[in-house]
Amino acid sequence: MTKKKNLLKEYRSKRHFDKTKEPRGNKVKKHKEPIFVIHKHDARNLHYDLRLEDEGVLKSWAIPKGPSTDPKDRHLAMQTEDHPIEYAEFEGVIPESEYGAGPVMIWDYGTFKNLKEGSLSNNLKKGEIAIWLDGKKLKGGYALIKTKYQDRDNAWILLKMKDDEAKTDYEILEKEPKSVVSNCTLEEISKKLKKCKLKKYKS
Ligand code: MN
Repeated sequence: MTKKKNLLKEYRSKRHFDKTKEPRGNKVKKHKEPIFVIHKHDARNLHYDLRLEDEGVLKSWAIPKGPSTDPKDRHLAMQTEDHPIEYAEFEGVIPESEYGAGPVMIWDYGTFKNLKEGSLSNNLKKGEIAIWLDGKKLKGGYALIKTKYQDRDNAWILLKMKDDEAKTDYEILEKEPKSVVSNCTLEEISKKLKKCKLKKYKS
């Protein structure tokens, strides 16, 4: 069994790929510059999923309050199972009674740079990640810091670093609610409107 298969074991065990259109993750794809994606996902609760390319998969965090452009905000980010690289291109509806049932939107995507010494995986193990995002919406430095929260061992804090891209009076989630690939709202995606069909989009 390859390393990649091991990383996706939990992801695959939670899903039925004959029912959901989410990718199983068969391609090994490594981008020249690592990519990130932020999904807006209305499952049991609306949340945002930040995913960072590393080790041929997408390291993932569920962020109930979503990302912010304000360095004062400290938003909880719960690390979840690694997702396949192809998930960066997934937008659609996870069917009822399946894991994570509900609409999923590509709220933002782009590339990122690791701002810390050492590999991202290593920094992840240490519980301190610093990255520079170059997305369609989010830009600038962000940090993910591992934290103690209700005895959970997967709790992190996402925060915007102080730099020229920081904005203190800008509610980005409200001002920019639509998909960066289909230009649809989450409601339109959930209705599976024709106009929300993804055209040629490659992460
Ligand atoms: Mn999610």
